[in-house]
Order: sequence, then C-alpha cells, then structure tokens
Amino acid sequence: MDLLTAYQEQQFPRIHKAIRRAYRNAPGFRARMEAAGLRPRDLQTPVDLSRLPVLRKDDLLQRQQADPPFGGMLMVPMERLRRIFQSPGPLYEPELGAPDPWRWAPALRAAGFEPGDRVLIAFSYHLTPAGAMFEEALRVLGCPAIPGGIGQQELQLQALRTLRITAYIGLPSYLYNLLERARAAGWDPQRDFYLRKAFVTAEPLPSSLRQDLQRFGLTVRQGYGTAECGCLGYECEHENGLHVPEDAYVELCDPQTGAPVPPGEIGEIVVTLFHPAYALIRFGTGDLSRWLPEPCSCGRPTPRLMGILGRVGEAVKVRGMFLHPRQMEAVFARFPEVQAYQAVVDREAHVDRLILRVVLREGPADLEAMRARLQEAIREGLRFQAEVIFIPPEELPPESPRLVDLRRWE
Ligand SMILES: [Zn+2]
Repeated sequence: MDLLTAYQEQQFPRIHKAIRRAYRNAPGFRARMEAAGLRPRDLQTPVDLSRLPVLRKDDLLQRQQADPPFGGMLMVPMERLRRIFQSPGPLYEPELGAPDPWRWAPALRAAGFEPGDRVLIAFSYHLTPAGAMFEEALRVLGCPAIPGGIGQQELQLQALRTLRITAYIGLPSYLYNLLERARAAGWDPQRDFYLRKAFVTAEPLPSSLRQDLQRFGLTVRQGYGTAECGCLGYECEHENGLHVPEDAYVELCDPQTGAPVPPGEIGEIVVTLFHPAYALIRFGTGDLSRWLPEPCSCGRPTPRLMGILGRVGEAVKVRGMFLHPRQMEAVFARFPEVQAYQAVVDREAHVDRLILRVVLREGPADLEAMRARLQEAIREGLRFQAEVIFIPPEELPPESPRLVDLRRWE
C-alpha cells in the first residue's frame, strides 16, 4: 500500500467519528450535509469524502455572519472556550480550554524544543491567534514563553541576552531583522546570545534566508498552519517537506471540483479537524501544495507536503498576514479622491514591502497630507504599513489587477 493510501485508511475512522459528532451537535455542519443530500452513513470510505463540498473561507465568513459568532459550528457551551480570536475577514476562531488546543507541540518537539528552553514568541497577541496558540504549545512542553509580539526590537534584544533566550518562534524575516539589528548595534549574536533554535512559519522560508539565519548559529525549522486550524505541517530533522500532523486530516484537492488530485499534482490544502468543539470539516485553506511521494527516513508515518506553492484566488500573504482585495476596496471606498489604485507586494532584504500605487482624480492641494491619510487608513483598515506613491492615470490602465505579487522565493 502506498504512503498516501495508508495515511487515508489509517485516519478514516477518526474522520468518520468527527463527521458523526458534528452532524449530531453542530447545526451549521448538519446544514452543509443536508444541502449536499448526505448523511454520515453515506461517507464510508476516504473517496466518499469528496461528496461533501469543500467549505471555502468565504462560505465560512457568510455562515458566521448569518449565525454569529461561529456559524452553528461550535459543539460545546461558550464557557468551555478559553479564547476567541478574530482574524482578517473578519473571521472568529474559538479556542477550547484544553492542553495545546492548536496542536503545535509535536512540531516544536520536532524542531528540537526541549523542556526549559526559553522561547521568544514574536507573533502578534492582538486579536489574531498566532501568539497565544504557540504559547499554549510551550506550556505543554515546559518551556517559558517571552510574549514578545511584533516590534520593540531594542527591548526584545535586551531580553534575548539577559534572559538567555534559547529559542524563537515567529516569522523568519523578523528574526533575520532582529539579528541584523543586533549586529548593527555591535553584538555578535552567535557569541553574545544563547539563541540556537528557531521555529518559523506564516511566510515562505526561501533557502537563502534559511542559510542567512544558519550563519547566526541557528537550527531553523519551519511549520505550516492557519488561524482556523492550528498546526497542519512541520519539518523533521531532514528539513525536506512538511509532515502533516497525525491529529488532523489533510487532503489536496482540485480547487474547482473539491475532489482529491492525483498524486504528484498541485492541489488546495483541505483540512478536517478531529476537534471536539468546532466542526471544521473539509475546510479549504486556499493554500496550494503537492505531496512528496516517498516516505521520510525519519520514520514519521504521515506524508509530507512540499511546502506552500501559492494561493487559490487572489488573496496573498504579506508579512505573514492575508491581504484580500476586498479589504482594500473597503478602505479605498472612503476616498472619493482616488480614481484607481494597485497594491504591489515586493520583497527587499527578506522583508515584504507593500506599495500602493494610487491615481488621484485631480491633484489635491496637499499631496503629503493625502499620503498620510491614506497610510493611516491602510494601517487601520488592513493592519499593514504601506508605502503610497502617486502615479499619473496612464501608468495604471483600467484593466490592471488590484493586487500584484512580485516576490520570488529563491
Ligand atoms: Zn521526516
């Protein structure tokens, strides 16, 4: 039996249990099944699963808006939740009051994290889940967390040294910047700091950046996950592909039909959680990947994803956060002075840049004030720092895309 078939067969009893439980307890999930004319007993094999249409992010948004906050997918009373997050959309995610509810601990163990490691978490703790979800995993591992968030790098560098922080969780680009900043301030991070391990996620890790980080004496492992699902993949010591976790089910599907793609082809990552509280079943992440065909010599039984190869549709990730064309529309709708705009995502020294090219109807008296207002609205509405440049109308023809990604991951 090949690796993928074995994985499907092995996981299927848990998938079926999750489906039966959600059908009983989550009216929102039952409605999806009924709309597809299905009952749990109609789904008896891994192949049958594709009869249930994939739940898209937009569908989830609509369901949550129609039946707030969780679209009829929560299966436990509210008081059993520890946190509720809001991620861009806005989408709401429940966190169950249980150990390691986002299931990152195995990924961190595979990255060499051990009890007693002191870990800087450089992810946001505000509204979105990343900071808190990793903290829950560290609690299970027995690693104190330093809740660094994003920014205040001077203070973070001080903490790195004084607290002898040994490990990092966050964006790879942020870590690189932090260490470069240390070097600019006269430190030799490899000699003066105790940092040896990094677990990075939420943006691609090009091999050039991994090498740049390794030069600081770090072991760098990457993971993959989403705000809704938590951990969906992580590297083992071979650093070749992302093992999917044993405690969730991952399919790669044709974004149009929702059916699994043949081995070797690119498909959308579709996830079923075995979550006792939240009925997230056949959820389309919008991320594209491909299965690596061979079993891994590390001995882990789950197959590996060959990294994230792109996005279904238009949204792109900038500095670890999704940027949706629709979010931009909402911001620019408030500016009648703007005739047209285009967002360009580029990358310089391993850091994403967001540039907004803006055509104004007629030159307002004070361009600098206009730029400041736009930047403020983008920061408020999209949570991004952006550069705004004004261009003449002929540089942005009417059919131009609203969002252009110029980044190359090499
Ligand atoms: Zn492996």
